[in-house]
Amino acid sequence: MLDNTLFENTEIAFKLKSDSELERAYFLFKMISNQPLVRIGTAATNFALKAHLPVEGLIRATVFDHFCGGVNEEDCLPVIDKMYTAGVCSVLDYSVEGKAIENQFDSAKEKIMKLVEFSDEKEAMPIVVFKPTGLGRFFLFQKKGEGKAFTEAEQQEWDRVVARYHAICKLAKERDVEVLIDGEESWMQDAADDLAEDMMKVYNTDKPIVYNTLQTYRHDRLAFLKASHERAKSGGYLLGYKIVRGAYMEKERERANDKGYESPICKDKITTDKNFNDCLLYILNNLSTISIFIGTHNEESSFLALKLMDDLGISKDDNRVWFGQLFGMSDHISFNLAAHGYNVAKYLPFGPVKDVMPYLIRRAEENTSVAGQTGRELTLLKKERKRRKQS
Ligand SMILES: Cc1cc2nc3c(=O)[nH]c(=O)nc-3n(C[C@H](O)[C@H](O)[C@H](O)COP(=O)(O)OP(=O)(O)OC[C@H]3O[C@@H](n4cnc5c(N)ncnc54)[C@H](O)[C@@H]3O)c2cc1C
Repeated sequence: MLDNTLFENTEIAFKLKSDSELERAYFLFKMISNQPLVRIGTAATNFALKAHLPVEGLIRATVFDHFCGGVNEEDCLPVIDKMYTAGVCSVLDYSVEGKAIENQFDSAKEKIMKLVEFSDEKEAMPIVVFKPTGLGRFFLFQKKGEGKAFTEAEQQEWDRVVARYHAICKLAKERDVEVLIDGEESWMQDAADDLAEDMMKVYNTDKPIVYNTLQTYRHDRLAFLKASHERAKSGGYLLGYKIVRGAYMEKERERANDKGYESPICKDKITTDKNFNDCLLYILNNLSTISIFIGTHNEESSFLALKLMDDLGISKDDNRVWFGQLFGMSDHISFNLAAHGYNVAKYLPFGPVKDVMPYLIRRAEENTSVAGQTGRELTLLKKERKRRKQS
């Protein structure tokens, strides 16, 4: 019998945290719940890093170690192994951003291919992930999506992006490792969607290897999903989708406003929630041809997924359904789901401290602006502290 208090078990949620780690998490969420502090802290950190002041140690001991697995893959191994003892898998996420030069795209490709090989050997890492703009320039995706003609040099550059996608997805298929492709800003996403679909046509013939991302804060995504499903059915290949709400809402609205076009984002949170849940329902109803990775920290959507799985007779460990949260967030969802036998993987970011700063700042800002999320983390951490003191 499904019970909606499932996520409230803090003993399971924080089982892997020592008392001092629990205290650190509490202190951290308390700090980032303070908006002015985050604003000042972000500015001061950026300044200190640019001025080469010795702040890396401080960043490592606080936000970095809470939200990241380490500076490289090897560093992450103890975290991966530890989470796997509780049945939670890891998706290593090379979180270096904003390095838009050719040799960086090549080295990112090499890194992801190395992760595919690593994943093949390690049961705890069945999935890899990459960002489209980790493999090619944002501008190129944007221009392609707008249907504008490339110069000869741009066409060659684009061909190299496509070749990088193929290299990763081909190896992933050979090694039977699933590949998630992250979703980014809407004004580069059309080309990224087309490219992801091209990969699915080639590599998702007998099982879903390639998963694209549906950002359901976009009001057009359910229609997009249905149209892509029709194409997949007639093309004889399978779909894989990670569904998320979407991380760039403010940026999207600002750009639409500045440029005077209709915002692609749902008018309010309730509409985004409904869109997310509708996409979830559509996919679970079509599981024979679409697999899903449910990327959310939202308890209601997570519980709805459990309910739908139960209603539709989908077994908890069906390999076509995965749940995912970010490392350092919503352990109460991840670890309780895993304890009940569901497939769960946490995105585990890694990279040099300086280079993952944009990712860390996004996490701090997200936890500040999504008041509910921070409040929830704090309440659960407080509950667990109390429970430990009493026992
Ligand atoms: C495993 C994983 C992978 C992810 N991958 C990606 C990715 O590839 N691309 C990406 O963009 N994001 C990604 N995200 C982030 C995700 O999109 C959300 O920003 C984040 O998870 C918060 O949404 P939620 O469903 O967890 O929770 P909630 O707290 O329920 O939802 C918050 C989200 O709702 C939406 N929202 C909030 N207010 C409004 C409003 N007024 N109007 C309309 N919508 C609103 C926004 O999308 C906001 O982020 C990922 C998240 C996870 C856990």
